[in-house]
Amino acid sequence: MKAHFDLTDESNYFDNHRLVTFFHNKATGLNGFVSIHRGSALTPAFGATRIWNYGSYKEALIDSLRLSKAMSRKAAMASLNCGGAKAVIIAGNKIKDRKEFLKSYAEKVNLLGGHFVTGADVGINREDVITMHRYSPYFVGVNVDPVRFTGLGLFYSVQACLKEVFGTESLKGRSFAIQGVGKIGSELLKYIYPYTHNVYVADINKSALEDVLIKYPDVKVVDTNKIFNQKVDVFSPCALSSCLNKQTIKLLKCSVVVGGANNQLEDDSISDKLNKIGILYAPDYVVNSGGLISVYAEYEKHGSDTVYIEKKVKRIKATVKKILEISKRSKISTLTVSNRIAEERMMKLK
Ligand code: NAD
Repeated sequence: MKAHFDLTDESNYFDNHRLVTFFHNKATGLNGFVSIHRGSALTPAFGATRIWNYGSYKEALIDSLRLSKAMSRKAAMASLNCGGAKAVIIAGNKIKDRKEFLKSYAEKVNLLGGHFVTGADVGINREDVITMHRYSPYFVGVNVDPVRFTGLGLFYSVQACLKEVFGTESLKGRSFAIQGVGKIGSELLKYIYPYTHNVYVADINKSALEDVLIKYPDVKVVDTNKIFNQKVDVFSPCALSSCLNKQTIKLLKCSVVVGGANNQLEDDSISDKLNKIGILYAPDYVVNSGGLISVYAEYEKHGSDTVYIEKKVKRIKATVKKILEISKRSKISTLTVSNRIAEERMMKLK
């Protein structure tokens, strides 16, 4: 894979990040980037680590730059005193020895001396985090599973959106299309399935679909390219970055987009386009902040106090409602509203 690129090409994505670093371990085949967007000596930067089969180094770098910026906004909207960061690991060839691979990554994280605190994102599970925590104290999501709280915050956000569009929070009879049924997509199913079986799902991973069908036999599996144009109330992106772009939003036949994935929009202007075509979009980094809230609580030593975490996660619903209300009143997109509040709060970060 070509490792040469010009960072100035990425000027749209580089947002005066505090630090962007490449890491490599020849023996284990580890390659990736850590991007620290905001944070200081007093406030560490939080952001989970993603392992993905990126097509190029450039693609991986851009993903880490964009995701880390979203993490800063996420922390600000959840009123957490931390900055945002993200690590991406390029899963090129098959990982030969996963334990050694993870250990070599944990050692790289140690080099950042606690300024970067991380956990599980796409391609990493909780067992992996527990393994890496043996080699580095800067891994979180060990005492409590953040997925549970990401799912809970997503569920609250779904309720807030349904109330806005249909006048009731009730999920009874509502229909959903979920893109990606990994940790977060299947967690969403856990919350909604008791109320509705009218759910379409798509995933590129057959075994993820098989697992879901065992637990939720009435869900309907569709092709990954057909998930966008299902006629449903809610489209829920729960897979990778940039699934909503100029082309895919033309396919949507839903009233609401609310999902757990980070950076669902290819760029911020997609939010205005959704607004114009009458689809309510709940800003992803607000919706999916439950996981960050839980790992930050763990870092602050409240990690086992699930009542404390649940109380904080419940505030996501009020935040989403506030954004929707301001957006409606001021006729500006929900993402613009949210970005403005987040930027204002980030200015105050130590
Ligand atoms: P995961 O790896 O467990 O699941 C992702 C799933 O998406 C996989 O099953 C994968 O096969 C599927 N997928 C990938 N490309 C796809 C495509 N084109 N169409 C359909 N399916 C596709 O990851 P996760 O932890 O569930 O994370 C999902 C999203 O939620 C990511 O964007 C992540 O950043 C975000 N998120 C996760 C957490 C968390 O606590 N894990 C917290 C906040 C946000």
